[in-house]
Amino acid sequence: MIKKHWIALFFLFLLLPYLILTIFVEVKPEKTPQKEEEQKSSGFTVTLYRSEQNRFEELPLRDYLWGALAGEMPASYPKEALKAQVVACYSYLLHRQKTVAEHPAQNFGHDGDICDNPAHCKAYLPPDEAAARYGEDWYETSAPILSQAVDEVFGQALLYDQQPVNAVFHAMSGGYTENAADVWGAEVPYLQSVDSNWDKKAKDFSSTAEFSLDEMREILGQQDCSLGAVTLTEGGSVATQVIGGKSYTGRELRNLFSLRSTRFTLNIEEDTAVFSVSGYGHQVGLSQHGASILAEEGYQYQEILFYYYTGTTLQKDYYPSF
Ligand SMILES: [Zn+2]
Repeated sequence: MIKKHWIALFFLFLLLPYLILTIFVEVKPEKTPQKEEEQKSSGFTVTLYRSEQNRFEELPLRDYLWGALAGEMPASYPKEALKAQVVACYSYLLHRQKTVAEHPAQNFGHDGDICDNPAHCKAYLPPDEAAARYGEDWYETSAPILSQAVDEVFGQALLYDQQPVNAVFHAMSGGYTENAADVWGAEVPYLQSVDSNWDKKAKDFSSTAEFSLDEMREILGQQDCSLGAVTLTEGGSVATQVIGGKSYTGRELRNLFSLRSTRFTLNIEEDTAVFSVSGYGHQVGLSQHGASILAEEGYQYQEILFYYYTGTTLQKDYYPSF
């Protein structure tokens, strides 16, 4: 018995190097440049902070982009507008990741690569939530359209000076987009005011917001609500508006009175304050409605992106390792 054991062990010992070699050679994948590229893109995951549920989700990049597109743009928009939106969402994500990687202490209010709160980062609507919100019919007709848009521009990033851009966007401008410097204070070379007067074709381009003078006094916390001087940004929005001797920025008034944009005129009619507002959103970068009009007129997604993000270039297969 003992002898047999020794013989078996002896053969096993002889075979060991061969066995180890076989296992490793067989398990190890064949590496070709194409496979490496595929692995890079499929292995690129996004850590998404679901703000309402207060939890993190680890997602394949493609799934994140699908959900961001579903959350940010109607599937009924033309395909070239949808593609421009995907590239903008991807570039925004890359820019945010890079900024956080370079300034680890500055996580912009939450950990993870990005969150699903459109007021903070970008909206995100995964397939199951999209079907629940819009119905199965919507899902069946729209999901393939969104998937196709994502696939056609997957891995394409918008760059400025070889770096991914902060590709911010908004629903519709008030006729012109705004310089980033006029809205957030810091100059950004690719976020400049451009003509987008075709936004006026949108059904909900104009809106009004009315407040009694009493409400206005309460909101502003001051008795005197007489209107003074107004200054405008290059894009035509309110830079500052004097009310009762006090100067407010357009952004402050937009926030205080929940206006759809800073592109407004304010009038006092008898004892009512009337804001007449154009456009919707911060008006910086790509106008989503403007992009859809340009796409309807035959412009390609690249042309739309280069128009709204001044001086940028498009890079294919951009999968940096963070
Ligand atoms: Zn966020």
